[in-house]
Amino acid sequence: MPQIAVVGAGIIGVAIAFELQRRGESVVLIDRDAPGKGASFGNMASIAITEFMPASRPSVWAQMPKWLLDPEGPVRVRPGYLPRLTPWFLRFLEASRPSRVKALEAAGAVLCSRVYEDLLPFLKAAGLSDVLSEEGCLSLYTDEVEFAADREHIAVLERFGFRHEVLVGNAIRDIEPALTTRIGKAVLFPENRSVRDPYKLVVSLTERFQALGGKMETGDVTGFERLDGGVRAIRLKGGRTIDAFRVVLCAGAYTGSLARLLDEPIPLETERGYHTQIMTPGISMRHSIIWPAKAFMVTPTAGGIRVGGTVEMAGLDAAPDFRRAKVLVRRAKEALPDLQAADASEWMGHRPALPDTVPIIGPSAKHAGVFYATGHGHLGLTYAATTARLIGDLIAGIAPPIDLKPYRVDRF
Ligand SMILES: Cc1cc2nc3c(=O)[nH]c(=O)nc-3n(C[C@H](O)[C@H](O)[C@H](O)COP(=O)(O)OP(=O)(O)OC[C@H]3O[C@@H](n4cnc5c(N)ncnc54)[C@H](O)[C@@H]3O)c2cc1C
Repeated sequence: MPQIAVVGAGIIGVAIAFELQRRGESVVLIDRDAPGKGASFGNMASIAITEFMPASRPSVWAQMPKWLLDPEGPVRVRPGYLPRLTPWFLRFLEASRPSRVKALEAAGAVLCSRVYEDLLPFLKAAGLSDVLSEEGCLSLYTDEVEFAADREHIAVLERFGFRHEVLVGNAIRDIEPALTTRIGKAVLFPENRSVRDPYKLVVSLTERFQALGGKMETGDVTGFERLDGGVRAIRLKGGRTIDAFRVVLCAGAYTGSLARLLDEPIPLETERGYHTQIMTPGISMRHSIIWPAKAFMVTPTAGGIRVGGTVEMAGLDAAPDFRRAKVLVRRAKEALPDLQAADASEWMGHRPALPDTVPIIGPSAKHAGVFYATGHGHLGLTYAATTARLIGDLIAGIAPPIDLKPYRVDRF
């Protein structure tokens, strides 16, 4: 049976491989590393369906000068990387036009609205329904001033009908006792559940895929053999080839270099993020928390709690700067005064980031049989099952349940 090659075994590629397999396709999943060692290894584990707001929105621009001047601010651009970032940044600018922001909000909301419709049956089919927590996420505010600064976000969620509940005073500590009394107001997003271990989810999905006959190949994809306007085979470093009559490119932040090999450049950058996994935190938590004014997130995970966030624009090759992870832990302690962070490990990962925040999900505009699933930014875990569903429909020739125009590869 002719096979489909899925390039990249992060959460997006593994989800697509499993989805195609359960639709009866013969699939080979290719990665140069072990599955799940990219961005999908250490994300904040959140099914963050309320976090689709475009990064180019006016409230971000308003804060950008302050953030960029603060070495501990939530966004940092390494000066030496600035020249390489300029073309991406100009597109980011373009994505901040008010009409564009509205369209991008809608494109994110359409995906987020259907996340559980796709995710729950997907996890059930994989026998992994128990990876999801029951509790949602609390967004924290010390006072009305901080809350007002996040009002635009809440207003967009209200417009698109995302569930949330405002809590004040001790009602917050009633559901999350580890929080400081400095937090006077919170918004509970009950549907922002989390997975217990995002890396283990990738590994478990890969194991199911292989147990059901899926093939896994280790190799660095360096080229494509083309035929009749499409692709006939994948070329690996060292010269080996793998036949494929269809190809799905989902190599996270590295998909840009694969797309260039196909003469189909995409403006993909990496927004580097950090986490600290605290094995013995000395507190227990039920919900994940975000504190917008302090720009960090904490998620209870299997094996302790995870503190993370931040955006660093420095490309794919620069060494990590773990001072950024330490800043986040310091801020987390402001929210969780009894948090102990001695027993911890730090990590940096490459979010695949497009300048308009919306992922690319769809066919190549140039090559028959080639599909892209990349640029999921801060929401790759959240969007994984939905992306797999949409790519599955496209490959099967079934009309997808949503209009895929906002996610097309040639929109830039
Ligand atoms: C700090 C942080 C927190 C985050 N928190 C969340 C969150 O709470 N919720 C959420 O939904 N998302 C979150 N994200 C985003 C999410 O992790 C990413 O969007 C997602 O992991 C991207 O998955 P991917 O499969 O596209 O890429 P990756 O996981 O990076 O996988 C890409 C794979 O492609 C392989 N590859 C690359 N090039 C080649 C090649 N040439 N040949 C062969 N293989 C290749 C790599 O080895 C890798 O395994 C977070 C990210 C970070 C960094």
